[in-house]
Order: sequence, then structure tokens, then C-alpha cells
Amino acid sequence: MDLLRSLEACKLIVFDLDGTLYEETHHFDYYAEQIAARLPEAARNDFWRDYRDALDGRHTLRIGRAYDAAHDLILAHRRGRVTDAWHWDGAPLSATEVEQRYPEPLTFDRKELLNVGDQWWLPASVAVHYGIAEKALGEAFLATRDFMQSEAFHMRPIPGLFEWIDAFRVHGGKTALMTNSPEPDSRTILKKLGLDQAFDALIFWAEKPLKTEAHLRALLERFQVAPTDAASVGDNWQNDIAPARRLGMKTVYIDAFGLAEGDDADWILPSLRTAFAAGERRI
Ligand SMILES: [Mg+2]
Repeated sequence: MDLLRSLEACKLIVFDLDGTLYEETHHFDYYAEQIAARLPEAARNDFWRDYRDALDGRHTLRIGRAYDAAHDLILAHRRGRVTDAWHWDGAPLSATEVEQRYPEPLTFDRKELLNVGDQWWLPASVAVHYGIAEKALGEAFLATRDFMQSEAFHMRPIPGLFEWIDAFRVHGGKTALMTNSPEPDSRTILKKLGLDQAFDALIFWAEKPLKTEAHLRALLERFQVAPTDAASVGDNWQNDIAPARRLGMKTVYIDAFGLAEGDDADWILPSLRTAFAAGERRI
């Protein structure tokens, strides 16, 4: 069924922010620079080489994989189940070793086991490999969010998105924003996108994926909506899609990197823009 028509039949739609409601990527260059500046000088060249290689698909680390920082191993996984593992230099572990080390699905903790589920985690994982302190990584992230609030960070709203959300709400639908990002910069970004008046609920510092399910349950309860009448829209499968599926919600996976397999979500599209490209349908 047509995506927008199906969403219009919902009573609650929960949107992720970064990578979902906007498509800009040049802030990742800024983030990488901020990270590099906080690394020991001796590690900077290696950081840039591995980060560029990872971006260009020339490194074992890439978006869609995971980084086991505790053991310095790169992992390929399908829905958390490890299928392959490599040392940082690309040397593979044997199938037996993979099975022994990772008998259970991965539980990502954002510290020792990192899900490289979107582009934020690519420079971060490389930096963790080169020994960046957690505090320094956090500072690089916040410096990047500051940059994103500034005039220098240009954003292009997705044409038709606000009008569609507005009409959805006029017809009684509820909308929520749930983001792992902090509040002040996220509010500024929403303003830049013309979406600051688009949501009935706003959740910042959401701590997805650990707390996604709890947040979704609270939203369903607050707006008195059954999971089957609600949808989650996001670009990070572990954060935005898997927990919503477990609750029985509809799911829209924004898959800019072509990571999805056919049954990963109810709808899979490279960008929200494509849903509104054909004539900007109204409800
Ligand atoms: Mg996102």
C-alpha cells in the first residue's frame, strides 16, 4: 500500500530527527575534524586514513557494522546476530571463534559495543580505536551540534513535509519527535527545517535503542493509540525500527546507505524526500 496513504490511516507517528527529517551530511566532516583535534597528534594521520577508507568502503569498518571496542574487533551482524568478525587490519576470525565469542545477539551499550548504525558512529568508532577518551568524544559531539545551530550550517527542508504533517494533525493525528540529540540544538534544527510547530510531543536525549520501547509505550499510552495504529519513522534500524516492530507498530526505515533487507521494515526508502516527491500529495 502507498506509504503516505498508510501513514494517514495512523493515529500516531513518531519521527526520528537526524538523518530522517533532514538529509544534510556536511556536519559529519565537521564532527570528524572536532574528533581529530582531540586525538593525540601521533594518531591523527591514522585516524583520517581509516575514517576516509571507511567512508569510501575501503575499510572493514563501515556503516551497518558494529565495533567491539572492548576487543578491538569489527563485526558484521544481522539484527544483532554476529555473522563475521575481523581484527582492525581486516584479518578475519574463524567461524568457530565468531560463534564462541558471540553466541548471543549483541546488546549495544554505546561505550564498549558500538552499533555503527548511522554516520555519527563511523568517525566515533575510528576514534575509539585510536584511544579517544569518552569525555573528549562527547565534547566533539556537542561542538558539532553547536555548529549545526549556527548560520554556517545550511539546511534544506523536505518540500511538502510540514504541510503533510500539519494536515495529518488537523485530521486528528498525533505526531512525536524522538531523538538522541540534546534539546537546544535539536530545537534550533527543527526551526531551521520549519518543523518547530509540527509535533505534539518532543523527546530529546532519548537514549535509543535502550529506551526506545519505553518511550514508545509512554507515547501510545499518552495518546491512547493502539500499536497497530501507530508508526515509527527513522534511519537507524536498531534505534528506530526494531523496538517499534516488537510492539507491533508500523515502521518506515529511511535507508540512505542501502543496508536494509526486504523484510526489515514495512516501508524502506532512501529518503523521506522521495515520499513527497511525486506531486506533494495532501491528505
Ligand atoms: Mg537518526
